[in-house]
Amino acid sequence: MPKTPEDVIRDEVRALKAYPVPDATGMVKLDAMENPYPLPPELRGRIARLVEQAALNRYPDPSAPALKERLRRVFGVPDGVELLLGNGSDELIQTLALAIRKPGAAVLGVEPSFVMFRMIATAAGAPYVGVDLRDDYSLDIEKLLGAVEQHRPGLIFIAYPNNPTGNLFDAGLIERVIEAAPGLVVIDEAYHGFAGQSFLPRLAAYPNLLVMRTLSKLGLAGIRLGVLMGAERWIRQLDKLRLPYNVNTLTQLIAAVVLEYGSVLTDQAAAIKLERGRLLGELRRVPRVTAYPSDANFILFRVSEAERIFDGLKRRGVLIKSLHGSHRLLADCLRVTVGTPDENTAFLTALTQTLNA
Ligand code: PMP
Repeated sequence: MPKTPEDVIRDEVRALKAYPVPDATGMVKLDAMENPYPLPPELRGRIARLVEQAALNRYPDPSAPALKERLRRVFGVPDGVELLLGNGSDELIQTLALAIRKPGAAVLGVEPSFVMFRMIATAAGAPYVGVDLRDDYSLDIEKLLGAVEQHRPGLIFIAYPNNPTGNLFDAGLIERVIEAAPGLVVIDEAYHGFAGQSFLPRLAAYPNLLVMRTLSKLGLAGIRLGVLMGAERWIRQLDKLRLPYNVNTLTQLIAAVVLEYGSVLTDQAAAIKLERGRLLGELRRVPRVTAYPSDANFILFRVSEAERIFDGLKRRGVLIKSLHGSHRLLADCLRVTVGTPDENTAFLTALTQTLNA
């Protein structure tokens, strides 16, 4: 008898829903926190020449020294801090979840937050504890410290700024969580480029702290590069779980040359931050919309009949993200990524038309 998935695949994996990636062909794509700007033509020319010469018959260098050196400089990584590179930060989340698991050790995060924390922990077989934020999306410190005490998690993820709410949590409260944690605390700074605040300078003060970044939101989502930073004694252990050639040759080449190329990514981030201000201002003028402040490259907003609005935008060629139904604190919430000025205007026009339809 051929075996069925029920016989072979773990229950918790069969219970998962795949991370949804909708088809965006021909749409104004404001659903995935991508940087809307292409790289300058001269830089694309340099990348083309590098790709032409790349030794694609060889495995990539797993230690990626040139790329790590540039990341150190660009991120301002303090001395004594080591780097672990991942095929996107998603892969680093997976590496962490696979590494910490003592029998029963939990992974803890706040809710709502990035859905992959829960999904990856579950797939890795670690019980996931989600602690709700307060109604204003700030940390519920009493509840959080209570859950840390009760579950003694091996790993805590905190996104800073948080996705999908867009806010930076109070740094002093995060420090209390780090101090109370019996295991590792990972501050996920995926949106650091739009926020400016960081826990990198605190790595020396907290021996159980790791900081994670990604190039995805800065303009290089297509090459998949995530970076985990922390004390050598943690990185050395995690590095054993990294698949030998996880960061491919083209990613290494392209990331190194783009990071070397002046301030192109930070200039684009500055333009996105300016547009974020305009978009938030305009959204707040739309009747029946409540838009939340953001330190990231997206804006969360609440509107009655969120699903009708989401569908109406889609019919008008604008793809955003619906969060309605994903958590009690996200009822009637939608999330829009900050695009180019034209894309944002197209979104605002489609939103007004849908609301008035
Ligand atoms: N962390 C957070 C908070 C995110 O929102 C995302 C992407 N949505 C990621 C990590 C994953 O980023 P990547 O795998 O592209 O580096």
